This record gives sequence, C-alpha cells and structure tokens, in this order.
Amino acid sequence: MALQSLDVQRRSATSTASPQARKTLEVAKLIDVSRCIGCKACQSACMEWNDLRDEVGVNEGFYTNPKDLSDQSWTLMRFYEENIEGSLQWLILKDGCLHCTEPGCLKACPAPGAIVQFTNGLVDFHQENCIGCGYCISGCPFNIPRLSKHDNKAYKCTLCSDRVSVGLEPACIKTCPTQALSFGSKEDMLAQAEHRLDDLRERGFTKAAVYDPQGVGGTHVVFVLPHGDQPEKYGLPKDPHLGPLLSVWRSWVSRSLGVFTMFAVVVAGVFHYMKVGPLEEPKDDPPAPPSPPRKEA
Ligand code: SF4
Ligand code: SF4
Ligand code: SF4
Repeated sequence: MALQSLDVQRRSATSTASPQARKTLEVAKLIDVSRCIGCKACQSACMEWNDLRDEVGVNEGFYTNPKDLSDQSWTLMRFYEENIEGSLQWLILKDGCLHCTEPGCLKACPAPGAIVQFTNGLVDFHQENCIGCGYCISGCPFNIPRLSKHDNKAYKCTLCSDRVSVGLEPACIKTCPTQALSFGSKEDMLAQAEHRLDDLRERGFTKAAVYDPQGVGGTHVVFVLPHGDQPEKYGLPKDPHLGPLLSVWRSWVSRSLGVFTMFAVVVAGVFHYMKVGPLEEPKDDPPAPPSPPRKEA
C-alpha cells in the first residue's frame, strides 16, 4: 500500500469543514471469520506495536482473555459456543473498533478535536483533547471505547493510523498466519469478501454474508461471517445505527440552543436596562477622617 496522507475530514464538536483536506483512497480491514483459528497473534501484535500492557487476569473458564476490551486491550478475540441449527458451534470474533463512516463516538463527543476522522475513513482518538466524559462510549453502537483508570482518557483501536500513514499495513494484519485478515482499499476488500462468500456458499454455508452495516454508513472494518444471517451470534449487533438522541444532539436542536441562549442574553440585557437604567461607575470614596494624635510614651 502506498503512502497515505492522513488529512482530517471531520473533528468532534467542530462544525467547520477542515481546510484543504485532500480526498484519499478509502481503506478497510477485512476479517474473514471462516479462516480464523483463534491463535490471538493479532491481539499480541496490537499490544506490542502500540506498547500496551494489560493487567494479568484470572482464568474465567473460557478462552476470551482478557475478558473484555480495555484502554490496554484494543482488540480482543472473543470465543462463543452457539447452537446453530441444532449443532453446537464454536464461533470466534476479532472485536475492536469498526471505524464507522458515520461514527457515533465522534458525533457524541463534546470536546473539540478529541475524535477525528481521516479522509481515508479511519477514526482516531486524540487523547490530549479528551475530557474523559465517556459520551463516546454511549454514542458507539458497538460498545468499543474504554476509559483509562490512569488518565481518564478514552482509548480504542486506531487501525494503526501511524503505520498506514507511512504505507505499512496494520500490525494485526501483518501477523495473522492464516490470512484471515487483509488490508487495502475498501473496494478491493469488498471484492475479496464476495469471492470468499462464493467459496463458503459452495461449501454449504448458504447464509454466509458480508457485515458492513449501512445503519452507520458502512464501516472500515468489514467481516465475512459464515452465519451472516445471525451476526448477533458473533456478538455483533444485527442492525446498528445511531440513536435518535445523537442525531438530535448534533443537528438543529444543538445549534438552535446556541442561538436561543444568545437571544435570551440580549433580551435579559434590554430588560435590565429598562428596569435599572444604565450601569454607572461608583463614585469615589469620601476622604477618610484625620487620625487622632499619637500619645507619647
Ligand atoms: S465502532 Fe464505535 S468507536 Fe469505532 S468508529 Fe464506530 S462508533 Fe466510533
Ligand atoms: S489495526 Fe492496529 S490498533 Fe487496531 S487492532 Fe490491529 S494492531 Fe491493534
Ligand atoms: S491472528 Fe488471524 S488467525 Fe490468529 S486470532 Fe487473529 S485473526 Fe484469527
């Protein structure tokens, strides 16, 4: 992959367009669940590249380890035992940020520049601007961002934007031994996914499907699911979309609230003037009385 400019196309809590953002190739990571063997090499590579060290946990009785995403675990292999059409199946999913085209995290964030979206589609958190309010967590339909106990900032997978910007593939892609992970233009990844679907359907997975949910405008992490009619069995929401409150927050109500507040301040000022009159400068204090003569000792 060639060098990628990381021009910012959107910033949280900022309504003005970024100046001179160049249109770049839209990229995507393809996760072919049917090829994953659950080795967790991608999980380790992510921690190594991003210098993350999660706490050593305890065995909870299943293979998912640690048991959840955290500020130190940006990608996590999740293991599920599911009954599918009468047979017990072991499903494995690489969990992490999907880099939505319409990112709920960015739309919910009230801190200017704490979340940005690059023109290639990646969504990145800039911790120096994060105020630790956690609104990105409520705004994300996939339950991805996590707040750090140490600095109260939100963290998640960056899709290795630092590597992508210099023409490298993300660390997890580089390490996968079964080619379950691929990275390239979104167009190429969707074409590759379609080939995989043909193969899976020939092998009897008639309901195999691509997971690229349109409720968030599509994503820049796309899955091939052998049981694509039941994404919830892999822990993925069937129809993720942005909540109505979020749309309201970012649309006319939020802007109208600003205008209304300004209007209310002007009206209050006029009423104050009519009732109390203009503000006057306080008169100078009267001169202090002379102090009594000091007695000699
Ligand atoms: S998956 Fe969640 S954290 Fe990632 S871009 Fe989408 S809304 Fe944001
Ligand atoms: S793209 Fe980079 S940050 Fe994201 S899961 Fe893969 S290795 Fe981790
Ligand atoms: S490295 Fe590849 S095969 Fe191993 S767990 Fe990750 S996606 Fe699956």
